[in-house]
Amino acid sequence: MESKLTGTVALVTGASSGIGAATARRLAEDGASVALVARRKDRLEDVAAEIDKAGGTALVVEADITDRAQAEAAVQQTVERFGRLDILVNNAGLMLLGPVVGADAAEWERMIAVNVNGLLYTTRATLPHLLSAAEEGPRRVADIVNISSIAGRVAWNGYGVYNLTKFGVNGFTESLRQEITRRHVRVGVLEPGGVDTELGSHNKPEVRNEMIDPFFEQTEVLAPEDIADGVAYMVTRHTAIGELWIMPTDQA
Ligand code: NDP
Repeated sequence: MESKLTGTVALVTGASSGIGAATARRLAEDGASVALVARRKDRLEDVAAEIDKAGGTALVVEADITDRAQAEAAVQQTVERFGRLDILVNNAGLMLLGPVVGADAAEWERMIAVNVNGLLYTTRATLPHLLSAAEEGPRRVADIVNISSIAGRVAWNGYGVYNLTKFGVNGFTESLRQEITRRHVRVGVLEPGGVDTELGSHNKPEVRNEMIDPFFEQTEVLAPEDIADGVAYMVTRHTAIGELWIMPTDQA
């Protein structure tokens, strides 16, 4: 059956869980061949099997995108397998919260490495292929969707370096949008509020107890599929969507 994304190829970083896995499933449902990029190969294989079972096409690409060579190889592997690249979803991310005073600097470095450097390396390696796809592809357009956060719009006490990375992603996205939109590569941010994923689980126990668990107890958070819907919306319209902010109704 002809679907909205038939003939296109998408690369999703952080496709082994949460929002990335849901987005990969959704883009495959809409007809894209999808490259699944992350470090946990077994989890990527599970997602690929689900896509395969539903009649879609997926490629497992094990890569740590904080290593520039691995990010570039992941893009290369995708293009070698599918011959093109139309959609990049920069989704991989890490949220380690807590006070700046007395912070563990290694946590800052890990967050900046994934949320900023990984996104930049993957974007840079993908751009030539997206620019070609916009000229020659079935849709005459290509897409970058950067998964930022409400934390890219609003700063909170205890979110310092996570805020830094996501505000940075928003600024970079808008700058790149202005650079290449006339070449028909659409660039936008999607900013989710609370979503039920593994994101909070990487935090120290005291952060989980004081900041993360209380938020989840008080808020009816979204499902990863709600965000995947937003990504699908951004890449299947004829309009260019620069920013999409998706929140649980009861998150103020
Ligand atoms: P998850 O923890 O479920 O997913 C994070 C993904 O990032 C995993 O697939 C992980 O895969 C991947 N990842 C982490 N480090 C690397 C790396 N070095 N190289 C490649 N992949 C990596 O969380 P979410 O689904 O919630 O997070 C997805 C995005 O959504 C993030 O950017 C997050 O900031 C954003 N977001 C999430 C919100 C929420 O409430 N959940 C709210 C707002 C934004 P692996 O470990 O296998 O490498």
